[in-house]
Amino acid sequence: MKLFVVGFGCGSRDGMTLQAENIIKSCDVITGYTVYTDILRLFFPEKEYISTAMRQEKERVELALKTAADGRNVALVCSGDSEIYGMAALAFELLHLYPDVEIEIVAGVTAALSGGAVLGAPLTHDFAVISLSDLLTPWEKIEKRLMCSAMADFTIVLYNPTSKKRADYLAKACDILLEYKSADTVCGYVKNIGRDGETHRILTLGELRNESVDMFTTVFIGNSQTKIISGKMVTPRGYRNV
Ligand code: SAH
Repeated sequence: MKLFVVGFGCGSRDGMTLQAENIIKSCDVITGYTVYTDILRLFFPEKEYISTAMRQEKERVELALKTAADGRNVALVCSGDSEIYGMAALAFELLHLYPDVEIEIVAGVTAALSGGAVLGAPLTHDFAVISLSDLLTPWEKIEKRLMCSAMADFTIVLYNPTSKKRADYLAKACDILLEYKSADTVCGYVKNIGRDGETHRILTLGELRNESVDMFTTVFIGNSQTKIISGKMVTPRGYRNV
């Protein structure tokens, strides 16, 4: 049958697209990381769920493919978008194990967009999205991407800004950015977007350097034009027509 890889947005009921909702409702089984299936269980209590722990991404996708190969329609759920640091590509990479399964990818509103809206309008112009997790990417490559994005004056969105083992990664990233961006650069972060305990803060890059955030936080670093208007983080749409 079919495997849908579904991004269900930040976690609020109304942050989900109608397409995601309809597909989840139509599937026989919902599978994904426990934190996500727990959220969806509240919205769709009648569905059947298979949950897996955090680090078992490959096992999770294999199980979803196997369940689909057994003749059921499966929704493999990811928070935010299903591609952006999600499971979509892995489903294709493991498809050779169950070649009869059909895969459909369902986009969702990624944390950069839902978080950007909380802060104001930081992403109006060109921006780069970088994950600070070095589980899948060597740290040297992350450093290079940070450096090049800062040199090019992109607004930068950081995913996975920290973890227990990587408590100082945000500070290390800020040190690289501070080589090319002013310490006054307008920054912001949003924690638990669309979930209980949503909080946000707007601050300078110099302040961000010494801030501690958790793994449920998305961090925004403005470009050289980003400013604060009415308490919101705003990157102007154009530089010439203001
Ligand atoms: N597929 C997801 C990203 C998964 S990577 C998406 O498109 O949004 C996990 C990282 O995403 C977290 O470390 C955090 O930086 C960010 N994130 C995901 N959901 C979030 C939320 N509700 N609030 C704040 N940040 C979130």
